[in-house]
Amino acid sequence: MLGPALLAAARNDGIRRFVSAAPLTRPVVDRFVAGERLDQATAVAAGLAARGLRVTLDHLGEDVHDPAEALRARDAYLALAEALGRLGLGERAEMSLKLSAFGQALPGGHDLALRHVLPVVEAAAAAGTAVTLDMESHPTVDSTLAVHAELRRRFPETGAVLQSALLRTEEDCRALAAAGARVRLVKGAYREPAEVAHQARREVDRAYVRCLGLLFAGEGYPMVGTHDPRLLAIAEAIATRRGRPAGSFEFQMLFGVREAEQRRLAARGHRVRVYVPYGTDWYAYFMRRLAERPANLAFFARSLVSR
Ligand code: FAD
Repeated sequence: MLGPALLAAARNDGIRRFVSAAPLTRPVVDRFVAGERLDQATAVAAGLAARGLRVTLDHLGEDVHDPAEALRARDAYLALAEALGRLGLGERAEMSLKLSAFGQALPGGHDLALRHVLPVVEAAAAAGTAVTLDMESHPTVDSTLAVHAELRRRFPETGAVLQSALLRTEEDCRALAAAGARVRLVKGAYREPAEVAHQARREVDRAYVRCLGLLFAGEGYPMVGTHDPRLLAIAEAIATRRGRPAGSFEFQMLFGVREAEQRRLAARGHRVRVYVPYGTDWYAYFMRRLAERPANLAFFARSLVSR
């Protein structure tokens, strides 16, 4: 019951101001966010890489309605690409971004986002790495997949994300698996209406398994984005059945979530990539993480009273 309320709060400016100003919010945010500055994020990335993990860095930001802010997002990612070039981890440290941070919701937003994101993808390629386009709520999916297709004409390593919660996603998996793309499969972090999305968790999980089957049967590079122990085991079993060698797919998890499992999978010889968000605009990301797991909310509430 709390999940939908938290997802609604993730888009509420009044609650954003209240939660962001609460002095005790910070230590809890730190569990999920690598820091506010680029140097903190690259330090975390280097530390994870030293332990055999890959990373995808996300400069936090979304739902931008001011053209100047969209330019700032582009510039932040250009700085990130440069820093990754210096770090020298190649594709072991890539970038994830949300097109809504690049102006997708502004008038003419589709073209604007494409125009802003292109130099970032070029800079990533120059730094020996790649970009994955995060997927946001359902009205943005067509535009995001079209930008992805356009970017892949010159940069085929550009990744996309598909959400098993959406009814359309099996079709999208078929299309992208055939094209040989890097596809991160997730359950989906947004509250979506019944016309477009499965509502029961059980249905979202079943769809996830069907999508895994489609992606692993195809020519592409599946990126299994989940912490769910059952789905992780099923993905491993499907990969084995399909004779997929370890380097032909990867697991992805969020910074601060199930870290022991991240290390366990890596120790079993799997590629594991950690999604590392950083920056000052952490509110919406943080609220989605609270919504995913009531225990996180209890952890947050405890931190508010235990000082
Ligand atoms: P769940 O059933 O939610 O969780 C399974 C178990 O994992 C839980 O029982 C718990 O032990 C653990 N767990 C899960 N979440 C948390 C948490 N927040 N805190 C602590 N423990 C937790 N969604 C999008 O819509 N678009 C994206 O682009 C996107 N990118 C993602 C990238 C990565 C690498 C990952 C891992 C997730 C991404 N997501 C994205 C979020 C995703 O859609 C889910 O909301 C999120 O992963 C939780 O679902 P789950 O598969 O882990 O399963």
